[in-house]
Amino acid sequence: MKKAEVNTNCIGCGLCTELCPDVFELQDDGLARVHVGEVKDEWLEGAKEAESQCPVEAISVYDE
Ligand code: SF4
Repeated sequence: MKKAEVNTNCIGCGLCTELCPDVFELQDDGLARVHVGEVKDEWLEGAKEAESQCPVEAISVYDE
């Protein structure tokens, strides 16, 4: 199963939530979080793109 995580480096630029809103959302504090327990196959490409494009390398997409 694929999972995703946003760490404390996030600066709330919003890129991941634009690229893959099925997985990432901005919280009330303006920072991103993962709002799903599992990254489904159809979301994987977007999630990985967000992982590679996040300007502060805050995103991890990994196997569990
Ligand atoms: S792309 Fe990175 S810095 Fe920007 S909101 Fe997402 S996790 Fe935060």
